[in-house]
Order: sequence, then structure tokens, then C-alpha cells
Amino acid sequence: MQITKNKVAAIHYTLRDNKGEVLDTSDGREPLHYLHGAGNLIIGMEEGLEGKSKGDKFELKIAPEKGYGEKDPEMVQKVPRSAFGDQEVKPGMKFSTNQGGVVTVTEVGLDGITVDANHPLAGVELNFAVEVIEVRNATSEEITHGHVHGPGGHHH
Ligand code: ZN
Repeated sequence: MQITKNKVAAIHYTLRDNKGEVLDTSDGREPLHYLHGAGNLIIGMEEGLEGKSKGDKFELKIAPEKGYGEKDPEMVQKVPRSAFGDQEVKPGMKFSTNQGGVVTVTEVGLDGITVDANHPLAGVELNFAVEVIEVRNATSEEITHGHVHGPGGHHH
């Protein structure tokens, strides 16, 4: 069975940046289960998985426009030190915003703190090693909901 629209696939993956550093991996976890063709994965990943079958192992190089997008310079902002109260702030720290997003501190200066609201993987070329563990038909309920139920999926 091949991965096409409305199939559920389970995959193992390892994501590296161009320096070979591992950014994310399903190693040691349950494989990732997802409903194909429902926009649950980044575009480049769904394109690369299209037509693949159980047991297939392959590598995918995904450009930012098919991954997490390019960095938007307007999402990098300097905010006053006082916005953080008296807590210690260091580069690399992440804070939730009132709008429900996450910002990463990129620079701590005397007159303000620079935060970046871009996705941490925006502008990054993604190098995936992928293995297809399982492919099955989605249930009609999964197709209606647009996500996977049961093992590795939503429980509700
Ligand atoms: Zn559901």
C-alpha cells in the first residue's frame, strides 16, 4: 500500500541541520502517525512521502519555503527591559506571549531585549532521514476530523 491522500502513515524520522546536528528525532519514541494529505505535516515532508510504502527508507532535503518558511524580519523586535519585570533574561530563553505565540530571546542589551517570534526552524534547510513503518487506510471518522485516532493519534 502506498502513501496517498487519506492514508494513515507511521514514520520514524531524524531531522538534521546542514551541519549534521540532530534537531529532532523520533528515535526512542513511538513512530509519528499522521493523516496524509490533510496538511498535518510541512509541505516538503508530505510531498516526499507521497507514493512511498512500508519499509521505504529515504532522505529528504527541504527548503524553508516548503518547511517552516523564511524568517520574517518584522517578527524580530526589541522590547523594553521592563517588559520582563525583574526576572533574569538570557539569550536562548523562550517566553509565551499574550497572543499565544512563543518568542525566543536573541540578544540582551542595556537598553532593551531583542526577541524573535519566528518559528525556531524558519529559514533553516531541513535534512530528514525517514523510514516508513506502516501505511493503512484512514477511517471515515479520521478523514472527517482531519487527524489520526488511536495509537499515536488523538484520543477523544
Ligand atoms: Zn478526531
